Parts: sequence; C-alpha cells; structure tokens
Amino acid sequence: MTSNTTERRSAILLIYTGGTIGMKEDPQVGALVPFDFSQILAEVPELAKFAYRIDSYTFDPLIDSSDVEPSIWISLAGLIEDRYDDYDGFVILHGTDTMAYSASTLSFMIEGLTKPVIFTGSQLPIGIPRTDGKENLISAVEIAAAKDSEGHALVPEVCICFDNVLIRGNRSKKINSDHFRAFRSENLPPLAEAGISIRYNEALIRKPQRWDARPVFHKELDTRVSILKIHPGITPEVVRNILCGPGTRAIIIETYGAGNAPSKEWFLSIVREASRMGKVILNVTQCMGGSVNMDIYATGKSLKAAGVSNGYDSTTESALGKLFHLLARCSSAEDVKTALETNLRGEISK
Ligand code: ASP
Repeated sequence: MTSNTTERRSAILLIYTGGTIGMKEDPQVGALVPFDFSQILAEVPELAKFAYRIDSYTFDPLIDSSDVEPSIWISLAGLIEDRYDDYDGFVILHGTDTMAYSASTLSFMIEGLTKPVIFTGSQLPIGIPRTDGKENLISAVEIAAAKDSEGHALVPEVCICFDNVLIRGNRSKKINSDHFRAFRSENLPPLAEAGISIRYNEALIRKPQRWDARPVFHKELDTRVSILKIHPGITPEVVRNILCGPGTRAIIIETYGAGNAPSKEWFLSIVREASRMGKVILNVTQCMGGSVNMDIYATGKSLKAAGVSNGYDSTTESALGKLFHLLARCSSAEDVKTALETNLRGEISK
C-alpha cells in the first residue's frame, strides 16, 4: 500500500535524545558536540512542507547512545504515555550504537500500541552536506504520520527507520559502523521501503486488538541479566562465573548455529547447576540470521534437558529487552520461561 499523507493533518512529537544526527563540529574543541534541537528543524526545512503539526521534546542532557541506561527507556515510555493522546505518532532521534537495544526494549514496555513510535538517527551529522540524517528524519516523520482510509496508523509499532527501510525495532541489529545501511532485520523483511513512494508491507505489520484502547505502559525493568557468548576455548571458570555468579536472575547464552554449545559434561553440569539455582537461561544463536532449534543436534537436546529456554530467531538485543521486561513483570521463573517462548510483540517467528 502507498501512504497518502495529505488527507488528514497529523501531529507528530519529535523526541531528541542525542546521537550523531544532532551533532556539529565545535572548532574550539575539535570534536563533534550536540547542538540545540531547534537547529535540527532549521536544517531540515522540508519538514515544514508537510501539513503536520510537529512539536519537539529535547532530552536534558543529550546523550551519546553508548550512555543509554534503562532510566532513559523509562523516561521515553513515560513521555509517550503522557503525550499519547496529543499526537498521532512519535519519532525518536537516537544514536545508532544502541538504537536496536532501545527500540527492542520499548517494544516490550508498550503493550497494545495504536500509534507509530519510530526511531531514527544518522551516520553523518545533519549539518554535513552528504548527511543521511535528513532523509532518515523525513521518512520517519512521514511514516509516523501515515494513516489508512479509516484514520488508523499504518504502522502502530516500535520501528527503526534508516536508509529507506523500516524495520521492526525488536528485529533490528546494527550491522555496520560505516555504511548508510546501518541496520538490518535478518529474520523479518522490512515493514516498509521508501522509494518514490513509501510502500508498506501490510501483511507483516502488527495491528492492536483494539484501536480505541490506550496501550499499557510497563515502566518497570529488572536488569539482572548477563550474556554468555560461547566460543572455542571458553573455560569452566568463565562459564561458572557468568551462569552461577551472584547478581543475575537470567542469562542469555549466544550459541553456535541452530543453538549448539559444547557437549562436554563440565559445561552441561554448570548449566544444570544454574538452572537448579532458579536462573532463567535463554538460548539465542550468535548467527546473524536463522533460528535456534534444540531438537536437531544432541548438544541442543542436552541444553533443553538442562532447562534452557528456546530463543527461536530472536536477536540478542531483543532477548535482553524482553528479559528486562519479563523479570520485572512475572512472579516466577516458570512464568518468565513461558513468556520467553511466546511471541509477545512480533519479536520471534512463532
Ligand atoms: N556514538 C553515537 C551514538 O550512538 C553514534 C551515532 O549516533 O550514530 O550516539
């Protein structure tokens, strides 16, 4: 479907958190520093040509997204909750480094979304002639405002809009630090692509159960989660520290291929021990694409028998956000495990 943005005047809230998109060169410091958000609007006069009301909200302090903390996600969710009735869509300008984590986690924090929440940013600052920031911002705003003939949002999801593609936030990964195509969703095709017009992949876009209900905003997160990336030569000490050490309630194991890990007894006995301690252990693949299947190989079967949950084709970023959300929400490890293997926001193909 092609969007028609002229039928109805929409109101969009631009939320500026920081990142390259709003940077300019400071000759005194000799480095990129954030500039006033009003200058972003001055840099992109094309936005004024849309018949939208565009308001802005600037985070204070602005942050490089390497400094993103769960408190920022809670503030973002709270801001969207407070302003939900005033706007048709939300565009979040965010650094690219942790954008996939933020978009993933926000998708779990907002249940029953009826309006677009679109993250974007850029690889080059918006003040630089070859910037990708203008195009990203313009496309993100247009998508955030797009409605169908009944006046419903075309994309009522948390997404990332970057380099002419719109991908589901909890399917996204930053895959390149140089190219304009910085994000990819390996296991799910784009929800929209911007060419001469914006073409929406309607079959993939999730719709709320009820358009007239306000979403539920879950603003509690429990971050006692760690990630263990399996690699040849990994030692029992490292595995034990991460799986059984203090301070964690859940561990994501990034396994090989279709969910495989060493079949050695020392490894499996540590996994069993962590499981007995009540820790939630989630298996996601360290491959860019594809899915975990713990029923194919003996090593996968042993992990399943040791109490490890299946992450299917989840990204690590999404698994982390989902666990932060579920650990704060569920009352038992068993409830967390059940919800982990359930498709909550389109994050797994199941
Ligand atoms: N370090 C920056 C950030 O993530 C990079 C960017 O904006 O792309 O905030």
